[in-house]
This record gives sequence, C-alpha cells and structure tokens, in this order.
Amino acid sequence: MRDWSKLLKKVVIIGGGIGGLTLALALKQRGIAVTVHEKYDHQQHHQTGFLIWSYAIDLLQKLEVPVHRVGTPLEVFEVHGRSGQKISEMPVGEVSRSHGADSFEMNRRRLIECMSELVAEDLKFGHECVSVETRQESAVAFFADGTSDEGDVVIGCDGAHSVVRAAIHPDAELKMLDAGGWIAVIDHHPPSLQQNRHMDFWQPGCKAGVADIGNGEARWYVAFNHRLPDASSSKKLQIKQGMVDIPEVIQQCISMTDEAQMVSTKAGDLLALDPWYQGRLLLIGDAAHATSPYAGMGACTAIADACLLAEMLDQSNDVENVFIEFQKQRKPVADAVIEESRHGLDMSTCRSRFRNWIRDWGLSHIPDHKMKQIVDAMVTGR
Ligand SMILES: Cc1cc2nc3c(=O)[nH]c(=O)nc-3n(C[C@H](O)[C@H](O)[C@H](O)COP(=O)(O)OP(=O)(O)OC[C@H]3O[C@@H](n4cnc5c(N)ncnc54)[C@H](O)[C@@H]3O)c2cc1C
Repeated sequence: MRDWSKLLKKVVIIGGGIGGLTLALALKQRGIAVTVHEKYDHQQHHQTGFLIWSYAIDLLQKLEVPVHRVGTPLEVFEVHGRSGQKISEMPVGEVSRSHGADSFEMNRRRLIECMSELVAEDLKFGHECVSVETRQESAVAFFADGTSDEGDVVIGCDGAHSVVRAAIHPDAELKMLDAGGWIAVIDHHPPSLQQNRHMDFWQPGCKAGVADIGNGEARWYVAFNHRLPDASSSKKLQIKQGMVDIPEVIQQCISMTDEAQMVSTKAGDLLALDPWYQGRLLLIGDAAHATSPYAGMGACTAIADACLLAEMLDQSNDVENVFIEFQKQRKPVADAVIEESRHGLDMSTCRSRFRNWIRDWGLSHIPDHKMKQIVDAMVTGR
C-alpha cells in the first residue's frame, strides 16, 4: 500500500514545453498536484516538427498522449551522401516495433496543444518566471506579473535559456556551435517524399532533411555548419546561395513554403553542467543539458527525464536524495546525447572529400545485422 505521508503535496513546474508537460502528466497520474507556468500566453504561431524515438513514444503512450493524432510512425530513415546518392536505409519501423512502440515523426505544436489539453487547468499561460528561491522545506517561483507560487519543489523545465538555471549557475552559458538554419512545416506532401519516410541529405558544409509527419503534412529543414542565418536577407536566397546542389525534394519543399513559415535556428549546447539542483530547485530537459538538434534526441531525453523524476518523487519525499540520485542516473545519458549531437553535425557536414568518401562508403556497406544494432541504439536511447 502507498504511504501517503511520503507524497509531495505540490510540484511547481516552470515551462510548458515537452519536458514540463510530460512531468506534469506523469506526476498527475501518480496523484501529485502540479502547477505548470508557461511564459507565453498562447501556443507558438510557427509550426515545427521533430522525431520522437520508440522509447519516448512508449513513455508518452503510458501517459495516454494520443500520439497518432499528432504524428505518424516512421518506417524508413534514408541518408543520401555527398553526391546525392542513397547510402543508407535504416529500418526504424521494424526495429522500433520489436521494442513495443513505433518511433514517430510529429508536428511539435500539435503535440504540445494535445498535452496542454490533458494538463488542463493546471497549466497557466502568460506566467513568465523571473526568479526562484529555495527555502528550508519549499521553493518559490516569482513571475513578471508580480505573482508567485510556492511548492515542495520547483522544477526548471524552461529550456535552453532557463531562468531557474541562472539562479543555480549564474555564469553558465550555452556553447554556440556556429551552425544553424531554418525549419518549417508544410501542409502538403512534396511529390518526391514517400509516406512514413524521412530523407536526410549530407553535403559538405550543410545538411537538409524532410519527413512525412502525418495529417497530410511534412517537416523539412536546411542547416549549415560554420554559417549562421542572416535575419536581414531572404531565407530562401540564403539556402540557394549556400547549398551547392539542392536535392529535388528539398527544392519542392522550398517552393511550397511561405518564407514567413520558416523558423531560424542557431545551434548551441550545454555540456556537463553540475549540479542540476540546489536546495529545492532542480533542472531537467534543455534547462539542465541543452543539446543541438543534430542527434534528434533532446526532446526524447526531456521526456525520459520527466518520467524518471515523477517516479522518484512518487517513491520518496527525501528531496535531497531524489535530486542526487536523479542526476546520477540521467547526467551520463544526457552528456552522451550532447557529444553525439556534436559528432553528428561534424560527420554529416564535413568538408573533407576523403572523410566523406569513407563515411559514404562505410554507411553503404554496413551489413544488415549491424545496421539493426545501430538503429536499435537510437530507438531505445541506449
Ligand atoms: C531545430 C530543432 C530540431 C530538433 N529536433 C529534435 C528531434 O527530432 N528529436 C528530439 O528528440 N529533439 C529535437 N530537438 C531538441 C528538442 O526540441 C529540445 O531538446 C526539447 O524541446 C527540450 O525540451 P524542454 O521541455 O526541456 O525545453 P523547451 O521545449 O525549450 O520548452 C521550454 C518551455 O519553457 C518556456 N519558458 C522559457 N522560459 C520561461 C520562463 N522564464 N517562464 C516560464 N516559461 C518559460 C518556453 O516558452 C517553453 O515552452 C530539436 C531542437 C531544434 C532546435
């Protein structure tokens, strides 16, 4: 029987992104009261998308998030090498299902809207946290509108530019990677994209990708290494000038997209922040371990953080020990994702003809069983 005296009375969550909403649902499922404070008073206007691997989909499904409404299963992840030829087909669908859940390509805004509806009245929009304070047996968050909220703990799920992190580590700074580009969602399928596929194109100095995300939509991106988006000139022109050989399907995406829908991104990360906590304050997701997008794993890591933390807080109200143990379990995984993401950027955009040749040859000659092992590691997050 559960010992109710061990249950925390209230958890204050800063940030209504993927990490904060997952944590809220996981705590609510365990009967722990939450309030989520999101700084914006509306959902993002721009649509973007992402890939959520099988292990994180499994966690979302256990929280009754209707993933089929907001995305579509990914069957095959294609990689095209230096001269545009297909060098790899990763059997993501088959390997994911062997672990019990598909991996999904998703519309991020639809997912956040759907999770926000499930969190319901415990999610407060337009509450920008400006500072936090830890006390003997509680923690308090203060908001731009002059209000405050006190809980047994305050969890910072406020992303890469976290205010909660600034209270614990005032000098911590993101490492900017001198890489960036544009992402967009279109409500059409480019003719050259098959359903349930992701196509990635690795070229010297840049990479691009496009994926079916269900509901008749596709997401696409172009990213440059050692070149940043310039807000003062045309986004499409910058792609045309920077990418030597634009693949046909990316060309189709560009022509189907209104420039205003293209969201600029600049990659940065935060490796080896330590500790993630102070008193009754804790960081999870990008607030603790911001990652660049090139491993496609940051959101999955935030989901896994949130579910583990909810489980640990449900089992013990010895907050200090929970925070120590939580960091011990999650930090090696999160740091590995950041390293992997830096490596992914380097490998997919490297300029050396020789290294590209080795990479493309190597990927196109991987035996099936070895490829399944690689995909296995991605879909399970191990
Ligand atoms: C272009 C791109 C592509 C990506 N693709 C993938 C992918 O395919 N797969 C994957 O797993 N990951 C991907 N990622 C990484 C992933 O998006 C992040 O790691 C993930 O969103 C982190 O979740 P989070 O909840 O910690 O932070 P966020 O998603 O950033 O959420 C933070 C929330 O906190 C709110 N907030 C911020 N400050 C405050 C404040 N002061 N007060 C109140 N609220 C506040 C924000 O408005 C936001 O809603 C990608 C990232 C980018 C940039």
